[in-house]
Amino acid sequence: MAAHRHHAAHRHHPGGHVTRRQVLAALLGAAVAAAAAGVRAATGGHPNHHATASPPPASWEAATPLQPEPRAGPAQPELDAAQPGAPEVIFHGDPAFATFALTFDDGTCPTCAATIVNAVQQTGFHATFSPNGNMGPTVWDTQAEAIAAMAATGQVSICNHTWDHKDMTRLTAAQVKDELLRNDDWIQQRFGVTSRPFYRPPYGAHDPKTDDIAGGLGFTKVIMWNGTLGDSIVHPPAFILQQLQLYLTAGTIMLGHANHPATASVINQIIDQIQQSGLRPVTLLELLGTNPNPDLAKPDRPNLITTQQPNRNRVHLPGKR
Ligand SMILES: [Zn+2]
Repeated sequence: MAAHRHHAAHRHHPGGHVTRRQVLAALLGAAVAAAAAGVRAATGGHPNHHATASPPPASWEAATPLQPEPRAGPAQPELDAAQPGAPEVIFHGDPAFATFALTFDDGTCPTCAATIVNAVQQTGFHATFSPNGNMGPTVWDTQAEAIAAMAATGQVSICNHTWDHKDMTRLTAAQVKDELLRNDDWIQQRFGVTSRPFYRPPYGAHDPKTDDIAGGLGFTKVIMWNGTLGDSIVHPPAFILQQLQLYLTAGTIMLGHANHPATASVINQIIDQIQQSGLRPVTLLELLGTNPNPDLAKPDRPNLITTQQPNRNRVHLPGKR
């Protein structure tokens, strides 16, 4: 199990550096999306792309993703309509901003996932979950209500880590599509949001072919990482906290897992240490400026960025550009 879940070690990837221009491009794209959402709102709410067309495709290999069932509850970011585009491989956010994006992948340990979700919810900590749908019945479905509530307010982002955690570079194009679309459909049903545009390849294994397929489905942000808790395999809790200290730097995308009790046992210390570091805990949406929902940028939620203008709430680190 441990070896199966092992992620390749990734530290610094100059080639994956996110430039300010890329951030601005993302902001611009999000503004367009927000405008599109406004148009949808003005024309009667939730879009139904199948209203005048043929019934939804029965196959996961269909060219367009299935639309989610309408879901009762708070309004969700209108990201469910796929916006295909060129894939962008991202290792970290803009280091000019004192942000820190902790991500939790997989979920092979039910009690660990429950402990982590509860701690995130209780503390109001901003983070990202990358759950595999094949572990829904045993792990994630019992956390769905809590995660959906946090997703609705923008406290968490959901990233698509595929349905059953295969090496995407070893699959056919149809299988890659199936892994992404099946998982996103489950995410939409359980958590009320789409995982678009975020996709993290299992094991960090991706290539231009798999990236292009993902981008074509609207998963245009291929999320790697530049910091890791090292918890894809079993380590003592003290090791995990040491790893955290190594990577408490601005703009870090931090890899973590809901797989082992060691991580869950120190989740409150992890949250405390990030909060005490001066870095702002952020979701992937917040880190990358792709939040298309203007409602999430209300003044009473200053952590959340707007898509209409550069975010003044993001904290510049002294001495950094
Ligand atoms: Zn994984």
